[in-house]
Amino acid sequence: MSAPRDQHFLIDQRAVEKIAGFVDVSGRRVLEIGPGEGVLTRALLDRGARVVAVEIDPALVDELELLFADEIMEGRLEVIPGDATKVDLPPFDIVVANLPYSASSKITFRLLESGFEVAVLMYQKEFARRMIAQPGTPGVGRLSVMVQTYASVKPLLELSPNSFRPKPQVRSWVVRITPHEPPYPLVDRQVYADVVRVLFSHRRKTIRKGLRSGKGTFEPEAIERAIAGLPDDLLRQRPEDLMLEEFALIANRISRCLNDELPANG
Ligand code: SAM
Repeated sequence: MSAPRDQHFLIDQRAVEKIAGFVDVSGRRVLEIGPGEGVLTRALLDRGARVVAVEIDPALVDELELLFADEIMEGRLEVIPGDATKVDLPPFDIVVANLPYSASSKITFRLLESGFEVAVLMYQKEFARRMIAQPGTPGVGRLSVMVQTYASVKPLLELSPNSFRPKPQVRSWVVRITPHEPPYPLVDRQVYADVVRVLFSHRRKTIRKGLRSGKGTFEPEAIERAIAGLPDDLLRQRPEDLMLEEFALIANRISRCLNDELPANG
């Protein structure tokens, strides 16, 4: 059964304690997305975290404000009503959340852009598996390439539908995400993101054809100059087979051609 706004509440108290305890949150600013009825919020507060919780459902916001009136007054909890993909977020160090699965992708990209020390996040199992998919394997895609460029992801815990009320149809994974600098220097992060997006939106095409299909995104003349300077065996591959280093190579060449820094074969 699917619930409105992904409202599957965690009822497995041992899992709640584990999730709240995977990283030391004592005295830290913790962002929680989708606190729901506040089980995880309570466990984080009990561990000495200062929590900012973003909840989209106004009825749940009211409930949380009643339930946690003392903690809110003491300044240990702030409840922000709104959509976590859009609202302004105050500064935070750590993210701990049982995410709304339909917004997983948007929220993950948003978090990686804003920056944090470490995150412990629950995802639908299939989504989490795509985040860690390696080149040449079926799950590889824009998500895995972009996440692995900016972070390392470690699975910590698997939960069955029985851990939730109402029961979802899917299994869940809790993962730790630790941001890092890209392993290969990137001339322009936006161009890199565009290259990855364009190539995976034509994932059955070779790199050469995929890049040429990105005309709406890149100046065709710059693409042709970039292609002329890239190795032929790279251009014959498909995006699912490329290593992160090769996405960086392609994007950096395009960035330089867009900046008019490189002649063809330069
Ligand atoms: N953390 C709670 C728990 O573990 O029991 C609830 C988790 S439930 C899977 C997801 C929660 O996210 C719900 O409370 C839902 O209302 C909220 N939610 C859904 N979409 C959201 C969004 N875009 N921004 C903020 N909260 C959202």
